[in-house]
Amino acid sequence: MAKILIVEDEQPINNLIKKNLELVGYDCASVFDGAAVSNALASNRFDLILLDVMLPKLDGFAVMAQIKDTPVIFLTARSDVGDKVRGLRLGADDYIVKPFDMMELLARVESVLRRTQKLDKTFILGEVEVDLAGRQVYFKGARVDFTPQEFTLIETLIQNRNIALSRDKLLEIAWGYDFGGNTRTVDVHISSIRQKLGWEDVIKTVYKLGYRLEARK
Ligand code: CA
Repeated sequence: MAKILIVEDEQPINNLIKKNLELVGYDCASVFDGAAVSNALASNRFDLILLDVMLPKLDGFAVMAQIKDTPVIFLTARSDVGDKVRGLRLGADDYIVKPFDMMELLARVESVLRRTQKLDKTFILGEVEVDLAGRQVYFKGARVDFTPQEFTLIETLIQNRNIALSRDKLLEIAWGYDFGGNTRTVDVHISSIRQKLGWEDVIKTVYKLGYRLEARK
């Protein structure tokens, strides 16, 4: 699994990012100021760096100048367009504005890693194989018909595996803001996915919240 360096001086945020990335299976290391990055890079190879802009000792832009071949996602508290442009011009692969939703971060991490080819394009669990690039699902080697919404749901659950997701969030992601339906729609589709893949015990119902895909290594 990909190895990620988290550069963020706010300890609770750093810990939260690390915890969530580890839950979905990434291998993580944390540093808390800009000057510590060069040491971390000297002793380890990382597939991705999450880099805060406002850092003690050396800011994110100065750190960026030291990074050669590793993809970077900037974490910025400023919504300032100039900062985003500056980060991207320095060679960042993406940026995300704080405060961000953990799901959004996980989606961007996955997207950058997929682009830089550090990530498997197929998710395999038991007899289920999900081709994330081709948007196809296979069970015991045979292709299973999935509606676009069902595929988006399974993709979201995989991207956020081992993390509980609310019905509201799943509804919003799979159907969009403007959809008039209610969260019962999510239950119906989750039930259909469970049936198609024999995933009754893999997609857990989280009491009063929603669902979680269990995929521990
Ligand atoms: Ca900071």
